[in-house]
Amino acid sequence: PELASSAAAPSCDADAGPRVSVLFPLPLPKAYDYLCDSEELPPVGSFVSAPFGPREVTGVVWPANKGEAKKKNAKVQNLKTISRVFDAPPLASDLVDFIDWAADYTMYPKGAILRMVMRVKDAFDGPRMQTAFVATGEKPARITPKREAVLAVAGAEPQTAAQLAEASGMSEAVVRGLVGAGSLAKVEVDPDPPFDAPDLMRAGPTLSGDQQYAADFVAEIIARDEHKAILVDGVTGSGKTEVYFEAVAAALRKDPDAQALILLPEIALTLPFLERVEARFGAAPAPWHSELTGAQRRRTWRRVAEGQARLVVGARSALFLPFPKLKLIVVDEEHDSAYKQEEGVIYHARDLAVARGARAGFPVLLASATPSLETVVNVDEGRYEAVGLAGRFNDAQMPDISLIDMREDAPDAGKWLSPRLVDEINANLSANEQSLLFLNRRGYAPLTLCRRCGHKMTAPGSDTMLVEHRFENRLVCHHTGFSMPKPSACPVCKAVESLTACGPGVERVAEEAKERWPDARIEVLSSDTAPGPRTMRAVLDAMKAGEIDILIATQVAAKGHHFPNLTLVGVVDADLGLAGGDLRAAERTYQLLSQVTGRAGRAEKPGRAMLQTYQADAAVLQALASGDRDAFLAAEAMGRQELGFPPYGRLAAVTLRSPDEVALDRAANAMRATAPVADGIEILGPARTPIYRLRGIARMRLLVKARRNVNLQAYLSDWLKRTKSQSGVRITLDINPYSF
Ligand code: ADP
Repeated sequence: PELASSAAAPSCDADAGPRVSVLFPLPLPKAYDYLCDSEELPPVGSFVSAPFGPREVTGVVWPANKGEAKKKNAKVQNLKTISRVFDAPPLASDLVDFIDWAADYTMYPKGAILRMVMRVKDAFDGPRMQTAFVATGEKPARITPKREAVLAVAGAEPQTAAQLAEASGMSEAVVRGLVGAGSLAKVEVDPDPPFDAPDLMRAGPTLSGDQQYAADFVAEIIARDEHKAILVDGVTGSGKTEVYFEAVAAALRKDPDAQALILLPEIALTLPFLERVEARFGAAPAPWHSELTGAQRRRTWRRVAEGQARLVVGARSALFLPFPKLKLIVVDEEHDSAYKQEEGVIYHARDLAVARGARAGFPVLLASATPSLETVVNVDEGRYEAVGLAGRFNDAQMPDISLIDMREDAPDAGKWLSPRLVDEINANLSANEQSLLFLNRRGYAPLTLCRRCGHKMTAPGSDTMLVEHRFENRLVCHHTGFSMPKPSACPVCKAVESLTACGPGVERVAEEAKERWPDARIEVLSSDTAPGPRTMRAVLDAMKAGEIDILIATQVAAKGHHFPNLTLVGVVDADLGLAGGDLRAAERTYQLLSQVTGRAGRAEKPGRAMLQTYQADAAVLQALASGDRDAFLAAEAMGRQELGFPPYGRLAAVTLRSPDEVALDRAANAMRATAPVADGIEILGPARTPIYRLRGIARMRLLVKARRNVNLQAYLSDWLKRTKSQSGVRITLDINPYSF
């Protein structure tokens, strides 16, 4: 058969008959060859289904595996045939290319990356209609309380039987009965209604001089249609969001099919943010995050794939949506560690976003008040561009930050608030201003210990501490999700009433605050007390409305919120993130605490922040107090450079896991012994991971440190080839690990 030889044409070979390679969304490293008996071969990126093993599997037509043409010819008689080509838009070639690249970079199989793109069920069967019901206004001949309940929620807006049943609390049978009675009429509706188009001509606020300069700078790069990673650097409240909104408008105006993506680190932030986008562009963007229902996910996925949804706001996995024409990515709070996915395929969404833009040739904006050292070094060395916004919009003041040295200003025994912080809160209460007490620890107490025998309560099969949650009277493991009622006796020595709560969590600080200020309106906010973005929203709204005097919160309240009457932030334990040997501990503490303290004094009233610490001399705390971010980053950079750690060197973690500790130890040491000797490579370990046992699985780690010019992935794949697989021992790779 004659076949077009365009770049998008899949692998085909005139002698062997029409054939295509298909990649399946399964953890497999390569595409498989199939025959295709359709007139025209489906182009690369098409969704097809084909027999794979005993099943029919939906996959994607992929570029031919390189260098395998000969082998294929020999086996042509064994090839199976594609069963179906879906009537759905094919994946864009830049996305196919990105999947291949991401697989090589992260060292996960291509199919595992494709699976992140195909995370939606039933998306490939093209538009389907759904039966829904509208009220006809006719009273049924026989009216019952059940029928009345359904009619009360039915209206001119079509709703499915399931929706009507849920809204009325009745069964779907009642709904169907009303159709027979003529009170409801059936209509066919699209289950995935299109998104409203953003109004790109709508004027945003009048920009300040700095903002206009930054917006023009970015607009010029967008106009040139080229890739640049651009850091938008400015303190919280300096107006970065307004700047990147302009960039989104410019990118979408340039091309009627262009699409843009705004990535946010946390879903707790997305609800208010979606409203802000809607206010700016007159239309809600397509959302993408883990709290969406299956139907909502499908709607966004399909509408993005069709190119209909032009603006998407989402969490890190939105990077893998099937955009046909992505032209801009914004990574807000680019320094945030939530961009690092630690389960399944391990990747960093900021780094992958930049790589995606670089390969497809579009700009990527990185916004932050406390950019990561990686990004700052990329700017310093000329790989990234940067534009800065000086000061806060409208000259709102930055908070005045001071340290409380807990060695000198100690709280009473069993209490956590120092006399100085208590005085400040008193002053705020009398001035009718709000205070935020920040402690990044959920629950009542992080450690439960037997006073008699010293036993520490841990999760079964794990080295993780059980955290007391006093509101529910349970002990909970924050790593495994295990929980149990708090026992009355020590499980080891059986002493009764001997289990003691050690250290504070937010619930315990709230207890102290309620005791001290019984008349104040005090609320606790953490992911336990307010699970789900909506409940959290209620507390945040109450805070905004001034209905709370003292909010005691974990990091869920640290980011992105604007509380006009909040003038005092007290950080209960500023040292918390500094413990442990994490490379980025100081950097993260700096980022988190500047974000938290930045909550104070955002409107007309000046704010202040107090950090309780036992390490008042630590460089990171001094830098926070003096506001000298650049000096802090310079010191951090120097320390990393001396050690050859990222971003001055490359790092990978090889983690081995097994339920059998002896086998694990043997496998880790054997692997260490087979490591190829190479110039510019250093192997550290094996060592136990900080949490050694989790859910009965023990873990050991080897760290590979490489000079920047070394091809780390090539080294690792060579090493893995030499490693004999050991039964029951699983190996995972993490390129540029975040915590170790
Ligand atoms: P950032 O993203 O740097 O934290 P925002 O863009 O959210 O800052 O701006 C902080 C506050 O100032 C927001 O309430 C925003 O609406 C307001 N703001 C920023 N720029 C302008 C402007 N040019 N005109 C009016 N209000 C603005």
